[in-house]
Amino acid sequence: MSDIDQLRNKINDVTLQMVKLLRERTDIARQIGDLKKSSGLGIFDETREDQLRKEVVALCHEIGLEESLGKKFLNFLLNESIKVQTTSKQTHLTIFLKAKNLEQQGKKIIHMEVGEPDLAPPKIVKKALGEAVDRGHTRYGHAAGMPQLRTALAEYVSEKFGTQVTHENILVSPGARFSIYLAVSTLLDPGDEIIVIEPAWPAYRDCAMNAGIKVRVIATTLENKWEPSIEQIQKTINSNTKMIVLNYPNNPTGKILAPQIQDKIIDVAQKNDLYVLSDEIYSAYAFSDWKSVLSNNYKKSIITQSFSKSHAMTGFRIGYTVAEPKIIEKISKLQALCLTNVAEPIQYAALAALKAKVSDNVKSIRSKLNTLTDQAKQMDLEFVAPDGAMYLFARINKPDFDGVEFANKLLDYGVAVAPGDGFGNYKGFVRISACQDEKKLIVGMKILDEVLGGSR
Ligand code: PMP
Repeated sequence: MSDIDQLRNKINDVTLQMVKLLRERTDIARQIGDLKKSSGLGIFDETREDQLRKEVVALCHEIGLEESLGKKFLNFLLNESIKVQTTSKQTHLTIFLKAKNLEQQGKKIIHMEVGEPDLAPPKIVKKALGEAVDRGHTRYGHAAGMPQLRTALAEYVSEKFGTQVTHENILVSPGARFSIYLAVSTLLDPGDEIIVIEPAWPAYRDCAMNAGIKVRVIATTLENKWEPSIEQIQKTINSNTKMIVLNYPNNPTGKILAPQIQDKIIDVAQKNDLYVLSDEIYSAYAFSDWKSVLSNNYKKSIITQSFSKSHAMTGFRIGYTVAEPKIIEKISKLQALCLTNVAEPIQYAALAALKAKVSDNVKSIRSKLNTLTDQAKQMDLEFVAPDGAMYLFARINKPDFDGVEFANKLLDYGVAVAPGDGFGNYKGFVRISACQDEKKLIVGMKILDEVLGGSR
């Protein structure tokens, strides 16, 4: 047998052994998942992961393997464990779908689980949509968006967010969710790490997991007013860390970071050459001092925006990304691959929407959030009053409270809320959305109170 054949046989053997070990590891992870579930423990355990990471690093040094390679391999294994343990995880979407099924069976549901303003899109949008079709704007288009929409968005962004950008800085996408998917999938590689500050909208984690990227969590607490610790962020960063995600005003807490804390985070990111993915989709609903990460003029920042919340255009599926032209070019390629371009009539609708006045939407959401907060204050709930967005993230004052169980039980009484567990290790919390008619919000909160108190 030639040398190369012998080596090939050896490499095959090693690979097959690794696959068998992976099978064994996956089985153990599944068993641990079952035990975590039955004993009410969360799936994500950063302390445990850190311990293992240290052991892997020590082994790498002992056997002469590059540390970052060892950590990347560990990241792959940790992600696989999380995948087998999260198959039955319930989030706001699970409750939303259950609520929809109940509605189909004729039951009335007050939707306080979903982040969808119960407002109409601007009137001007309908006309623009029809005109676009009449004029024959029904063909394939530019991957990054129509030049006139990109230019209009650049002007809008420059006027609103304390920066100066051109059309080259803009990508028109089918919603912020897709912008986030594009940014995470194109700018990071499998085994890289991303920092997510929890509680967080679950798609950041899911997009990262989907691309084989390891999520490192900075868990914030109600006691600390949902403020992330700069020291903790610094400690979490290592040679594999490539991106940090910010989302202020925040879903689910409504928190807005103090500008100087935001600046410090950008500073840390810059020193460590990290991308900053700032999801600013709730900026229209900032009810205290807020500033866009765009105003920091940091070259590696990616800002996601959308017409979904500000213009009540969730179903139109249109948003945009603001970043350096090189980043926009890179992520446009994946958009071209996935969907060619956002439908042109929808882009014309967005172009018209930019001229619409949305101050009534802002007034409406603010009033709803105030009503929700006033109701919650009279109940056995602990929360920090939101600075913005459309939600209240509240802890229920009951030992062993389980948000998933409660959200499912509440559905029987015609009210849908989102379990805290979907946003991180927050089993004792629920997210209550203010996107409903205020009378319905009051009725929904009354029912929630009665179910909590056991009188229903
Ligand atoms: N980011 C956050 C924080 C959200 O809460 C949501 C939707 N609830 C999105 C992005 C998705 O927005 P879009 O409809 O533009 O995809």
